[in-house]
Amino acid sequence: MMSYLGIKLIPNEKNFILTRQQKLLIFLFAGLTSFIVMSFSVNLPENMKVDLRHVIIIFLVHYFGPTFSIPITIFVSILRLYWGVNQASVLSAMAYILIGVVLPLLNKHLPDFINKCVTLIMYNTLFVIASGFNMYYLTGNILFSLNVFFLFLLVSTIVVVLEKLFVDDMIRNRQMYLNEKEYAKRDYLTGLLNMREFNKQWQLNQKNDAYYTTAFLMIDIDHFKQINDTYGHPNGNLVLQQLAMILRINAPDTEQIYRIGGEEFCLILTNCTANELNDLAEKVRAVVASKPFKLEEDNSVEVTVSIGLASTRNKDLKKLYRSADRCLYQAKDQGRNRVVALLA
Ligand code: GH3
Ligand code: MG
Ligand code: MG
Repeated sequence: MMSYLGIKLIPNEKNFILTRQQKLLIFLFAGLTSFIVMSFSVNLPENMKVDLRHVIIIFLVHYFGPTFSIPITIFVSILRLYWGVNQASVLSAMAYILIGVVLPLLNKHLPDFINKCVTLIMYNTLFVIASGFNMYYLTGNILFSLNVFFLFLLVSTIVVVLEKLFVDDMIRNRQMYLNEKEYAKRDYLTGLLNMREFNKQWQLNQKNDAYYTTAFLMIDIDHFKQINDTYGHPNGNLVLQQLAMILRINAPDTEQIYRIGGEEFCLILTNCTANELNDLAEKVRAVVASKPFKLEEDNSVEVTVSIGLASTRNKDLKKLYRSADRCLYQAKDQGRNRVVALLA
């Protein structure tokens, strides 16, 4: 259950970078889990306790590395000593330090060829061996120590393997979900964001007070139907992809370019001055018109775009969309390959 909650903390973005808050929550979860696991400790003679707290440390090493395992190991060790400083608690704290601090720091310098799953089982086995030695050292009873050792090894290995399968399965599902979520946002042909994301974004912008001006730059390819009719649909697709590339290179924010129709694109621009907006629109128009687009079999075609540009200082983005659209159609009316702007 705690692993399930922990995995829910994995970031929703593509890069999976943990925020400080998520890191803190992972520490809290690990600490809390060690408390819960500790309450299931089996008490043995000579103040010895056997439980599965070391599995938490091993999994932190496995998935997050020493940065996460070291503080939790120190916490678990201090907790172990807090319940009574005696030979048994000092020896188990040392065993925790071995697998949570010493080995991970040594392991950092080992090449990655050691399979991570093998490492997990190896860490667990080393911890159980250390515990077995402690038991023999404290009781002097070889038979008893061997019995506990084998039982502990069996139970903890089963737990480690099952936990590993469970956690990996959840991570795989989560990654699949995140990938699908990302694909659903994007247009398959150009990789730009799609109309649905455009609708979502302008509604978000409408609520955001940090944006004192918002502008839509609407781009439509001139006579695109003719390009399709003359060179074929696949060549039409190549033109769309190359235009998307030009937009990516020139737009101030590549995550604000949307393909809102077959051959229509829109940029959402926030807090730009009228000059910046005009310069950007004119630059895009000029770059598209400046050199031929490459087609299949070494062919090429001249492409131009008409651009409608509108901005607003109030938050009526529906009206802004209509204004930009109207500007675009004026640009078409006035002969295409031009920018018509209506700036607030
Ligand atoms: P205008 O200058 O007035 O914009 O003329 P146009 O020919 O560009 O405009 P129209 O709206 O008549 O044609 C748009 C064409 O875009 C029609 C459609 O076949 C084509 N189209 C839409 N989506 C795609 C696509 O994904 N790939 C290709 N190759 N063509 C597409
Ligand atoms: Mg069109
Ligand atoms: Mg067109």
